[in-house]
Amino acid sequence: MHRTLLPLLLTCALLSCSVSTPPGGGAAFVDDARLRAARAEPGNWLTYGGDYGEQRFSRLDQINEHNVAQLGLAWAFETGTKRGLEATPIVVDGVIYTTGTWSVVYAVDARSGELLWRHDPQVERRYGGLVCCDVVNRGVAVYKGRVYLGVLDGRLQALDAKTGAVVWSVVTVDQERPYSITMAPRIVKGKVIIGNGGAELGVRGYVSAYDAATGELVWRFYTVPGDPAKPYEHKELETAAGTWDPSGAFWKVGGGGTVWNALAFDPELDLLYVGTGNGSPWSWRVRSPGGGDNLYLCSILALRPDTGELVWHYQTTPGDNWDYTSTQDIVLADLTIAGQPRKVLLHAPKNGFFYVIDRITGVPISAEPFVEVSWAKRIDPSTWRPELTPGLDYQNTIVEIKPSPHGGHNWHSMSFNPQTGLVYIPAQEVPYFFRLDPAWRYLPGAWNLGYDFTVADEFPREVVSGHLLAWDPVAQKEVWRAQYTGPWNGGALSTAGNLVFQGTAHGSFVAYRATDGKALWETPVSTGIVAAPVTYTVDGEQYVAVMAGWGGAFALAAGDAAAAAGVTNNEGHLLVYKLGGDATLPVHEAQQRELDALPADADAAQVTLGNRLFHRWCGTCHGTGAVSGGVLPDLRRSQPGIFDILDDIVLEGALLQNGMPRFDDWLDSKDVAAIRSYLLQRRRALTDKAATP
Ligand code: CA
Repeated sequence: MHRTLLPLLLTCALLSCSVSTPPGGGAAFVDDARLRAARAEPGNWLTYGGDYGEQRFSRLDQINEHNVAQLGLAWAFETGTKRGLEATPIVVDGVIYTTGTWSVVYAVDARSGELLWRHDPQVERRYGGLVCCDVVNRGVAVYKGRVYLGVLDGRLQALDAKTGAVVWSVVTVDQERPYSITMAPRIVKGKVIIGNGGAELGVRGYVSAYDAATGELVWRFYTVPGDPAKPYEHKELETAAGTWDPSGAFWKVGGGGTVWNALAFDPELDLLYVGTGNGSPWSWRVRSPGGGDNLYLCSILALRPDTGELVWHYQTTPGDNWDYTSTQDIVLADLTIAGQPRKVLLHAPKNGFFYVIDRITGVPISAEPFVEVSWAKRIDPSTWRPELTPGLDYQNTIVEIKPSPHGGHNWHSMSFNPQTGLVYIPAQEVPYFFRLDPAWRYLPGAWNLGYDFTVADEFPREVVSGHLLAWDPVAQKEVWRAQYTGPWNGGALSTAGNLVFQGTAHGSFVAYRATDGKALWETPVSTGIVAAPVTYTVDGEQYVAVMAGWGGAFALAAGDAAAAAGVTNNEGHLLVYKLGGDATLPVHEAQQRELDALPADADAAQVTLGNRLFHRWCGTCHGTGAVSGGVLPDLRRSQPGIFDILDDIVLEGALLQNGMPRFDDWLDSKDVAAIRSYLLQRRRALTDKAATP
């Protein structure tokens, strides 16, 4: 590896940061010993999943099933954001390190909520159009006096934990491609492990390890092969290449397999577990027309953390055709199965099966559906491959598939409680419709799925639901569920107080009894929660903390199904609760705007064209049917003047600073006129409804 000191020094000169901050204890002095023994200090929350096994179980029991009804707000920290908050706060020795939108980091006093410092990496707002799923960030890592941040634009930064000053900053991606980082880095053996996302637009996935002290790249593992004309970057790609059709679009588009969320580490086995994402483009027919499993898409990889060498892999969805990422969390647990102690890995990926896998060998022990599944009949226990349901390899006809690309479970973390033996999964039932896009061609920087976006122009709330699922991983069966009307609820935390905490899409924070699911406490919050809670102590007193801010893929794209969450005021908060807490949540009144009736376009063909263009180019952020899910403004309700300057906004970037990208590479004024006609027709439907007594 080449040292990259010169660019590093230049970066630092531009940002006026310091090149070295010798760690010598003090703020966030978390070393390898503390990380390995994280379970022994439940007063802190040292790493994303609470410990290297990512169990999200706390041994704290001061707040418990007997007194949780007395829980109240201790304080609320306002992030000043209005988009998705997905971070798991890290808590070290009385300080909370968390993130908001656009990769901004906050260090907050864990007792009082006072802001200690704030770091804004100044992400260019054009990245608003280069991410699939909101301008979110899932949190930081801490190590030896530094805070590590993956930035939306692909940078990885080390910050001084005392001040937030940049110690080093490296670019981990080709910024000419639509890569993005939303995941929390993890620290393993002195290295910062970081991946990236972008497979909806078109990138090649990989995971990298950087030296935590210097920012130097130590190793990189590509999850899919690159240009077939070029040599393999590492030996594992030779095996992978045999499972792809080189005549397909994969390597030009990128192939996908992005590592955008799940990592876990077993120090004893010296294995780093990595979850990989979907194919890019989505359609198997387009990506690899001759078929093949397309390794290492939708897989769990066990890598040596020192070298990145692959020890084993298991692919949950061979020949992915449906965005069935295996980037959902990977939880390490020791279970007794058939009388034998087993070191296992628990995994509930988007495809709807719950996997219990021997984490030494990578061979599954069991795999059963935990939600409604239509794409496969079962996982065949003789091969551990899915037995596909015939007729669902969508081509010219529209095919309904369950689960959807939103997943039977998505990135919202599950929790394993070793005391109850149960896994608590933010589960959901969301169907989806697929058809091949016969006109698909690769458009660099745009969404490149190969399937037809325009098959559905509505996403009704009646077809979706969500629940917190308590699942017995040994028996592979449901023990209890807390049913919600909507999906996209928050991550789970379970505790030794026999409690499970979860925030909900419809704006509440709830504590359930872990053993039987009885709701013991519930409090309203002002917006939908998608993040996972944590718990910690300061001065011997236990607190529970959660980020509240509605957002992410479903909240943006799902139209009426997302609007059902009822979010009208998405002011972001870090909310912290304690027994007897009596603070009140600051309320920001949502502005109710009077809707002026505007004439709709009478040209039906123009409206139809606008509908198609809207769902091809706009719907992934502005909602199916142009119905806002509560994150971005509802375009049907725009001020009348907005429709007059739609060209400036869509083609010239007039609202770029708000995160609204420009589309003049792909659209022209005639296209914008058609989109305007569609939006006005959708607005007319609203005003007509309002005028009807
Ligand atoms: Ca995806």
